[in-house]
Amino acid sequence: MTDDSAIRIALVVPDLLGTYGDRGNALVLAQRLRWRGYRAEIVTVLSSAETLPDSCDIYLLGGGEDVAQQAAVNFLARGDGLRRAVNAGAVVLGVCGGLQVLGTSFTTGDGATHHGLGLIDISTEPGPNRAIGELSTRSEEHGLGLLTGFENHLGRSTVGPAARPLGRVLHGIGNGSEDTEGAVSGRVVCTYLHGPALARNPALADTMLSWAVGEPLSELAPFPELTELRTERARAAG
Ligand code: GLN
Repeated sequence: MTDDSAIRIALVVPDLLGTYGDRGNALVLAQRLRWRGYRAEIVTVLSSAETLPDSCDIYLLGGGEDVAQQAAVNFLARGDGLRRAVNAGAVVLGVCGGLQVLGTSFTTGDGATHHGLGLIDISTEPGPNRAIGELSTRSEEHGLGLLTGFENHLGRSTVGPAARPLGRVLHGIGNGSEDTEGAVSGRVVCTYLHGPALARNPALADTMLSWAVGEPLSELAPFPELTELRTERARAAG
């Protein structure tokens, strides 16, 4: 049964795209909504579903292996629910493999080039080696400050003219073209930050939530242990 007044958060094919605990992003969003008195519902859509519903407010795509990414594109292209949802103003987060799936095209390690969903102007080619380790980036343009996470990918991505980078890399590889990390176009946000990204970066979580609820969110009580952990991680990542 669905709750009509709830903000609906779709966890999109976590059986294909879900490395590094990316499903935690759904838990973070739901909890941050509940702390503010909103109702939240997580809708898990496995690849065995017929199609992806277009009626959710937020869609989350995690990371995955090259083969899983291709299967995810095939599933998501069927029915085109994600495109309809984006056109209607839904908020989308794609992490790593999810970034590549949402983009225009990605070439996998075997040299084959695949269509992405084309929901954001970013394309991916294999790099000379895997980018593995802590990634920190500064996102002044989007008012998000320091963003941190863990990256593990072969792909190197180029942001096209119809999108903007999410941030500028301070430490790590990120997109691997110039010093950019991730991409933003309208309410579609892509990043190489695993972590899960929204647990490590509450400002990004709240920005996405304020888009979804259509109003600014109230401040939460400070969480000193979390602030300390974030500072420590930022220091460790240089
Ligand atoms: N398969 C992609 C790559 O290696 C994404 C990996 C991931 O999602 N961690 O670039």
